[in-house]
Amino acid sequence: MARRKKVYEGKAKILYEGPEPGTLVQYFKDDATAFNAEKRDVIEGKGVLNNRLSEFFMAGLGGIGVPTHFIRRINMREQLIRAVEIIPLEVVVRNVAAGSLSKRLGLEEGTSLPRPIVEFYFKDDALGDPLVTEEHIIAFGWAGQQDLDDMVALGLRVNDFMSGLMLGVGIKLVDFKIEIGRIWDGDYMRLIVADEISPDSCRLWDIESGRKLDKDVFRRDLGDLADAYTEVARRLGVMPSNVGHVTKPTLIN
Ligand code: UDP
Repeated sequence: MARRKKVYEGKAKILYEGPEPGTLVQYFKDDATAFNAEKRDVIEGKGVLNNRLSEFFMAGLGGIGVPTHFIRRINMREQLIRAVEIIPLEVVVRNVAAGSLSKRLGLEEGTSLPRPIVEFYFKDDALGDPLVTEEHIIAFGWAGQQDLDDMVALGLRVNDFMSGLMLGVGIKLVDFKIEIGRIWDGDYMRLIVADEISPDSCRLWDIESGRKLDKDVFRRDLGDLADAYTEVARRLGVMPSNVGHVTKPTLIN
């Protein structure tokens, strides 16, 4: 295959030029990072699992009319996506207190929130992605009021969809992060869900045992990250048959 042009390389994914204008190829790496990339490792099989899981979630969202960048999966690690102009904000939706919300407000992890809470963080690694308010977003021109309303609406729709899906397989969706991009249809601009939705960007707790099935396993050294993601994929029925993070050949009797 001809060498493709790399457009962008992030911590967990690489974007290449796509086959047609307005498209990109998104490649999922096995790299795991946390705490603003201070902690890093390579988790064999993570990229394959996240490619599959993000496909599953994005395609499902498309099926209920939530627009996303996902076009189709190409292979084990790559998917074809629509090129978007990423809004420089992380949209976090929370159902249960955990992580930075627990720390900031002194809420015990696991406390149910009275209603889903939508937060915005400014995407800037040098600043450690600070929490920002709608005032900052509008004053600094990162998004307009209509965009903000649309982002909240998209976040809540994704939350409803993902919460229901997870509940059906015995998992509680504690919180998640999405990124949103702009696309233009002629003169008309709209916002769509972009980046990825995977256990890298969600908190997922087993309802029965409380076991964490997300990136906190890596952040907090709670065990094998690929095992946790495999469990999510298995429960959702999206476990690729010939994948795993098994490094040794296994004998089949
Ligand atoms: N999150 C993410 N990328 C980030 C920051 C957060 O995907 O750069 C996700 C994280 O996995 C969790 C949710 O957003 O599901 C809320 O994260 P929180 O603000 O609690 O931050 P953390 O405790 O992860 O630093």
